[in-house]
Amino acid sequence: MSDVDCEIVVNETFGPTFQGEGPSTGRYARFVRLAGCHLSCRWCDSAQTHDSTRFDLDAERRIVSVESILDWLATGPAALTVITGGEPLLQRHAVANLVASIRDRVLATDIEIETSGTIVPTPAIASAVSRFNVSPKLAHSGLLHHQRIRPAVLRSLAAEGKSVWKFVVQDVGDLDEIQELVSVYGLQPVWVMPEGTDSATVLDRMRLLADPVLRRGWHLSTRLHTLLWENDRGR
Ligand code: SF4
Repeated sequence: MSDVDCEIVVNETFGPTFQGEGPSTGRYARFVRLAGCHLSCRWCDSAQTHDSTRFDLDAERRIVSVESILDWLATGPAALTVITGGEPLLQRHAVANLVASIRDRVLATDIEIETSGTIVPTPAIASAVSRFNVSPKLAHSGLLHHQRIRPAVLRSLAAEGKSVWKFVVQDVGDLDEIQELVSVYGLQPVWVMPEGTDSATVLDRMRLLADPVLRRGWHLSTRLHTLLWENDRGR
């Protein structure tokens, strides 16, 4: 039985909109963006979730009950709910209650969690979600290797069988780094997504990456929300 009175720290809820990235690109979806991240990627596109040097985090955070999120989802059900961040798995207890409650009330057919691949989900979370969109960070994130690559977590998520591996890429040279991770940890399927928060950059990088990604037999993701709405928040 899930605890809907459980509190969860949210940055924003938004939608309906389209899932903008990865295998579900273009799907009608609602998003729950959780507050907090233990990493600090230099190109982070959701720094408002955790970066106190650039944002007033007290203004950005809301502590709410899981029940209130369910009420919001129930106002306009979408087949897909995406739980993103920040790093959602920092709040594993609350997330477990949220995803179990969404299942109990049949508020979504599919639930995706977007994660950096540095925290192992609990079995309760793993059984309730449809997919983990896992984005291990590459060297251009500016993070130290031990911060961004957690071997036991990658192996656990790979063994779970619900993960797709969505790598944020700036240049063709980044693909070799992905290949090494794929070889060591057996990460499949691979999705390559251009880094960029404006449509011109996303398109330029997709064009640069398309043929090299095809040659490796990987998938290419756009950032549909960026192509449509640039860097508008809540879209
Ligand atoms: S893991 Fe995600 S939310 Fe955290 S700093 Fe990196 S890009 Fe931002």
